[in-house]
Amino acid sequence: MLEKRDFYINGAWVAPAAANDCDVINPSNEEVCAVISLGGQADTNAAVAAAKAAFPAWSTTSKEARMAALERLLAAYNDRAEDMAQAISMEMGAPISMARTSQTGAGAWHLQGFIDAFEGFEFDGMLRADAPNDRILREAIGVCALITPWNWPMNQVMLKVAGALAAGCTMVLKPSEVAPLSSIVFTEIMDAADIPNGVYNMVHGDGPGVGSQLSVHPDVDMVSFTGSTRAGTAITKASADTIKRVALELGGKGANIVFADADEKAVKRGVLHMMNNTGQSCNAPSRMLVERSYYDQAVEIASETAGKVTIGQASDEGRHIGPVVSEIQFDKIQDLIQQGIDEGARVVAGGTGRPEGMNRGYFIRPTVFADVNNEMTIAREEIFGPVMAMIPFDTEEEAIAIANDTVYGLTNYVQTQDKDRAIRVARAMRSGMVEINGVGRAQGAPFGGYKQSGIGREGGHWGIEDFLETKSVSGWQD
Ligand code: NAD
Repeated sequence: MLEKRDFYINGAWVAPAAANDCDVINPSNEEVCAVISLGGQADTNAAVAAAKAAFPAWSTTSKEARMAALERLLAAYNDRAEDMAQAISMEMGAPISMARTSQTGAGAWHLQGFIDAFEGFEFDGMLRADAPNDRILREAIGVCALITPWNWPMNQVMLKVAGALAAGCTMVLKPSEVAPLSSIVFTEIMDAADIPNGVYNMVHGDGPGVGSQLSVHPDVDMVSFTGSTRAGTAITKASADTIKRVALELGGKGANIVFADADEKAVKRGVLHMMNNTGQSCNAPSRMLVERSYYDQAVEIASETAGKVTIGQASDEGRHIGPVVSEIQFDKIQDLIQQGIDEGARVVAGGTGRPEGMNRGYFIRPTVFADVNNEMTIAREEIFGPVMAMIPFDTEEEAIAIANDTVYGLTNYVQTQDKDRAIRVARAMRSGMVEINGVGRAQGAPFGGYKQSGIGREGGHWGIEDFLETKSVSGWQD
């Protein structure tokens, strides 16, 4: 069993100010696989002080120096790819093949996206040709607290760390206490990449502890958070007294609108997308809206597709799905499946309880509900498990209204072979992202939501801008 209690502050691994052990549970077998320590106020203060001290030098380094740091980070990250995949697989249950490809791969993919965007990024410019003495400077906002969840650990850590680094910010990362092991490997990678002391610091902790301490800390200028809407609200309120910038990437309840003229793989693709990462994605297409003339057929395809999804240990190679992350999530998902049944939705695949033959590990049966209406709890709440709700519709207007009838607005999906309709629907979606006919976003495309799905955008050019202030200087003479 791993014992990794230290934090990374000012370029060195340091012991916690006070012992506060926290077990890390392997969700495939419910056993303790590692012990970390949760930090307290003294650790938070030390990490913030290191970031504050490093800020003047790092924020004024040349663009070339920061680009070189990003490139060293990419090389070091790729060197440790297998260690990263093993850590992610053990801490949050991603099957090892998927941990190697999409989970670990997402970190490298985003980092390359930042490097490409940074290449052409202009920090300074003239206001307008007719105002040559007005110079607009884009400057690093300061010390950033980066608070991340457990579901796509390196995707989220890299979106924050690389954006902040490129912008010239210094930072304190507080990874999820549920899945902290990948961030330990990541911190070793940052150390190997020779990022100057104090620019990057990492303290383990929970929400009420280090998370809240960072949110109210007077020397933190910005909090960038990914996770639940509940925690996003708490952080926003906590940050208000010191007027921090808050960037939030929160939950979703994505609609996948399938018209009767959709390509023949659309329904299958939607179900598999929903089940990917065992449904633990904020952009999961969890409500499948299907045109009524195609609905019965779609339900049949969805039921058959979900029935063929295999489930297995995270350590096994292959294309199966793994467990959900924790007992808390397992119980929550079981309750929501039961609530779907109680509210009258029809189970056409899966259901409550563990998959047949499994009596250990947080495994959930891939579940599809038909005959759902948008008022039901399973259509309104983010389930964060392999559970999809199918809702029929009659007209394009009705589909748009149902899709937008949610407090969330992260990613919606549209499936049709009518190009004009696809564009019309995409424009009508109140969401930060829309994917047409299964085509995923390109590297560097902005990721983020409308409404209660968040504030701000991550990735590429927009993901650097989020960490910048704007300074207007008049009377500038070249
Ligand atoms: P969470 O929001 O509680 O935790 C995410 C991160 O925030 C962790 O690092 C946690 O320590 C920290 N945190 C929690 N409360 C905080 C607070 N008050 N102040 C500062 N930091 C705080 O998420 P969770 O409990 O791990 O998952 C619960 C639900 O959140 C899931 O069921 C899912 O619906 C949602 N979720 C969404 C995403 C996403 O990407 N949108 C990711 C993870 C979880």
